[in-house]
Amino acid sequence: MRVDILTIFPSFFTENPYFQHSILGEAIKKGALELNVHNIRDYSENKHRKVDDTPYGGGAGMVMTPQPLFDCIEAVKVKQKADLGTSGPVIYMTPQGERWTQPHAEQYAKKNDALILLCGRYEGIDQRVRDTLIDHEISIGDFVLTGGELPSMMIIDSITRLIPGVLGNDASHELDSFCEAFDRKKEYPHYTKPAEFRGMKVPDVLLEGHHAKIEQWRKDRLT
Ligand code: SAH
Repeated sequence: MRVDILTIFPSFFTENPYFQHSILGEAIKKGALELNVHNIRDYSENKHRKVDDTPYGGGAGMVMTPQPLFDCIEAVKVKQKADLGTSGPVIYMTPQGERWTQPHAEQYAKKNDALILLCGRYEGIDQRVRDTLIDHEISIGDFVLTGGELPSMMIIDSITRLIPGVLGNDASHELDSFCEAFDRKKEYPHYTKPAEFRGMKVPDVLLEGHHAKIEQWRKDRLT
């Protein structure tokens, strides 16, 4: 999966241990995930590399201007096309977008080889960018963050772990909370060794090795 990220804080991605270690770090090393980070400021025609301005109609806060965003998105699309023969959907992170869920992650992992993620800042971006260049608007929940960088990371994480070969055991992501096999319900409780800890016992059914019974016990505990 090739992901191009558009941000005014590229170091949030390029210097982030989250992308250097564990599952995501390994995914990058294996080539299952390729991250390309673009600084929106590099595309600003303003001599101070400005990317924001005051809102028409007044009010508090600043708005990201259309020029750097148009130029950056268009350039990244051209680059993806040149590298892959096609360019992926442009996704804008916004609390006003569609709520991100596991089926979204599954769809994106299955159907797309490339994505372009736009991280907003300030009060957000000029509406004309949204009307023209954005394919999908995504929210990670009903709360407001300072920027789209964390939401982008969450989306990248949830998609990447579904790419075949990324998790040690491929079956493990098929049986997680919200998966189709669980009717999109939340997972059952887990226990590991020891069988008794501080007087708390693991349920007998899990120790008896009767697979059909274990399966039923787990199924009954999906919520
Ligand atoms: N004025 C906007 C909030 C801007 S927050 C509003 O009221 O809707 C600044 C940026 O952070 C946004 O452009 C967006 O890219 C990002 N952001 C904040 N909260 C988010 C959320 N819940 N989901 C996705 N992106 C979010």
